[in-house]
Amino acid sequence: MASQWIDRRPSSAIDTDVLVVGGGAAGLAAACTAASHGLKVTLLERYGFCGGAAVAGLSGTVCGLYLARPDATGKPEKVVHGFVDRFIETMDRRNGLTGPVRYGDTWTRVQEPLAWRESADELLEKAGVQVLLHTTVIGVHTDGGERVTGVRAYTKQGPFDVNAKITIDASGDADLFAMAGLDFTVGADGKVQNPTMIFRIAGVDVERFLAAYGEDSILPESVMKAIGEANASGSYRLPRAKIFLFPTPRPNELLCNSTRVVGRDGGELHPLVARELTEAEIEGRRQVREYERFYRANLAGCENAFVNDTGVQVGVRQTRQIVGVERLTNEAVERGAKTPDAIARSPWPIELHSGTKPRLSWLYEDFYEIPLGCFLPKRGESLLATGRCLSAEHEAMASARVTAQCFSYGHAIGHAAALAVREKLGVREIAASDVREMLRKDGAQL
Ligand SMILES: Cc1cc2nc3c(=O)[nH]c(=O)nc-3n(C[C@H](O)[C@H](O)[C@H](O)COP(=O)(O)OP(=O)(O)OC[C@H]3O[C@@H](n4cnc5c(N)ncnc54)[C@H](O)[C@@H]3O)c2cc1C
Repeated sequence: MASQWIDRRPSSAIDTDVLVVGGGAAGLAAACTAASHGLKVTLLERYGFCGGAAVAGLSGTVCGLYLARPDATGKPEKVVHGFVDRFIETMDRRNGLTGPVRYGDTWTRVQEPLAWRESADELLEKAGVQVLLHTTVIGVHTDGGERVTGVRAYTKQGPFDVNAKITIDASGDADLFAMAGLDFTVGADGKVQNPTMIFRIAGVDVERFLAAYGEDSILPESVMKAIGEANASGSYRLPRAKIFLFPTPRPNELLCNSTRVVGRDGGELHPLVARELTEAEIEGRRQVREYERFYRANLAGCENAFVNDTGVQVGVRQTRQIVGVERLTNEAVERGAKTPDAIARSPWPIELHSGTKPRLSWLYEDFYEIPLGCFLPKRGESLLATGRCLSAEHEAMASARVTAQCFSYGHAIGHAAALAVREKLGVREIAASDVREMLRKDGAQL
């Protein structure tokens, strides 16, 4: 009888000190850090695994660890520390990361998404975080004003509520800010960076591939030219010419960051619009096959390559940014600004994916700092943000969004949430100096 599967149980509620919505890099770090204070921490994640853009979007590498230098001369110099080191150690134990791989004028480390999921499971379990997977937050509860008191979530079991002293929006999309009617911005006047469907190809002769194109994962001009000619011949439709291909920790495999997902009519697709996101998924899968065909016919070492997998979802770089007490500006990123309220640092360039060629603006031998205020809402109470939805201008976000920094933001906001709970502080009363002190004790070297 089908009726036995109708759920008539009353919707049950969970009480928690700190609630983290989203299990990407930022949510993982925030949950583990808040739990290190002995608080009850609950993490809700809509997929069956943690990792967010890095795993579901197959983003591929941990960027933002090393200083940039023209032509990447010398040895990679790592300048970002803290929670990310725990993550790296957990991944290294699983053979889940390559060593530093050249990316233009800097380096990155290529990750294995299965090891990412398992590393997150391990870190969350050790920290004692209560994790609920396959759980999508569909609304926020407030006190009738602007204080967020928890969320309504949906699982196959039915809807249920979580009551929290502090809620952290680690959804990447600032979903909770939108649900609570708090302020946010979207890209440059609503225009966001284009999505990319990332995929992996197996069966590659990586040695021959590297001998032909060099160690830099940004492929040379000759490949860009070949893509242009393939398009001009009319036999291919490859909407992006500047492509990034990375050898992964697995043998004979390349991770391909090469598609530029636009609509069939060539127009931009907006990931916040359900119909356009659907089109992006389908178009992304189509482009994967088109690039596979091109690689097999044109790239040395790829003659027998085949698509191994794609992201679980199209990779979404940008949606909403919260309006915070402070805003990371393009100018601060370009000049390598430092601030006494810094809770994180970034040496990563502005990497803007818009148009046929991603634009890179390097910051050499330097880094900029990100203040705590970028994660504290200008309006609203008992709600903090972390991760890529930080308060930032469009181009600044195109640098500040990468994985090593999202770990740093989560690390900081986990401590900030614990401070707010323990000392009964309003979110705008959390002192950056206190958070910095805790981060330093954890080895963040700020
Ligand atoms: C195509 C692409 C390529 C990239 N390449 C790189 C790269 O090479 N190196 C690099 O360092 N960075 C790269 N990035 C950027 C980086 O991966 C992300 O910016 C970063 O991982 C974001 O982390 P986050 O924790 O802020 O958000 P996310 O990783 O987006 O995590 C948010 C989590 O929240 C969950 N969630 C969302 N809404 C809800 C809800 N309502 N209820 C419950 N759960 C919810 C999601 O499922 C997700 O797990 C790339 C990004 C993209 C899209």
